[in-house]
Amino acid sequence: MHVLVTGGAGFIGSNYVRRLLDGRSDIPADRVTVLDKLTYAGNLANLAPVAAHPALRFVEGDIADPLLVPGLLSDVDAVVNFAAETHVDRSIHSSAEFVHTNVLGTQNLLQAALYAGVPRFVHVSTDEVYGSIESGSWTEEWPLAPNSPYAAAKAGADLLVLAYARTHGLNVGITRCSNNYGPYQYPEKVIPLFVTTLLRGGTVPLYGDGLNVRDWLHVDDHCRGIDLVLAKGAPGEVYNIGGGRELTNRHLTGLILDACGADWSSVRPVPDRKGHDRRYSLDDGKLRALGYRPQVAFEDGLAETIAWYRDSAAWWQPLMSESVA
Ligand code: NAD
Repeated sequence: MHVLVTGGAGFIGSNYVRRLLDGRSDIPADRVTVLDKLTYAGNLANLAPVAAHPALRFVEGDIADPLLVPGLLSDVDAVVNFAAETHVDRSIHSSAEFVHTNVLGTQNLLQAALYAGVPRFVHVSTDEVYGSIESGSWTEEWPLAPNSPYAAAKAGADLLVLAYARTHGLNVGITRCSNNYGPYQYPEKVIPLFVTTLLRGGTVPLYGDGLNVRDWLHVDDHCRGIDLVLAKGAPGEVYNIGGGRELTNRHLTGLILDACGADWSSVRPVPDRKGHDRRYSLDDGKLRALGYRPQVAFEDGLAETIAWYRDSAAWWQPLMSESVA
């Protein structure tokens, strides 16, 4: 099976590519093509463990490029679309790239997949398309109500993906996942930002009252869920992928401080993010009915992740000048 993975040099996409090639995945991928633009978030070092694998081909390019993409899809059995601009704070400062990649890029991929007759297309989306929820959890039927430009661009892509299924019969699946953590995450997102800052003796910024709630999922579990949707998801369906571990940012900060041997004097309160969603919570019963269960307990995964950053300064130090502190 030939799988095209877009955004495969990013945090989650590279985990997925490593998984396809190192035998952890049930997907029988004998060829994996990665298409990645290598933005600030794309890093070939993320693919270093499988770089010499004979089944891997890397193509540097833009998913929105209408001249490049069709030529890559002619003999592809499945597309898994991770490529996106992903950082909410960046989308608040400037959203043009978010619309370019997340909306136009996805449309370009869909059109090329339709033309090439690609048998299966999995689009990786996010719980942020649902907005914010005070209590209870979102099912896949919940109306989309994105608040940040990032989430709005992801929601636009989701609607296009569903439109290609309903209008053209393209065999698509959408995953909407909660917050991921794990190794190789660019150090602008909260867990790697806090860990790498504390390891360097710095202070970490905590937004507002710190009581925003996020549901955390290890990246390995996310990729397990994507495999399941790729192999067994029904055509045209959306699947939530939850972690079942809801934490306030304040609670999360306390766990990271403890693990890094720091205390609350290393935390600097900062004004809240504009339009900051208060709480995310997913009902992932639909995917669980296909057999999905997260396997990484949060405390174990967090400890392993922090140990990885402690041991992998050679990976993150070159990225420090670019990251948002
Ligand atoms: P990331 O920012 O680490 O990686 C994104 C990758 O996409 C990078 O390698 C980048 O170079 C590439 N890319 C960007 N624009 C491109 C373009 N125009 N053409 C080709 N490649 C391009 O992101 P991530 O955290 O790995 O997220 C991957 C996907 O998962 C995204 O679609 C995101 O919305 C979704 N998601 C992420 C999380 C999370 O917590 N990180 C949670 C739920 C869903």
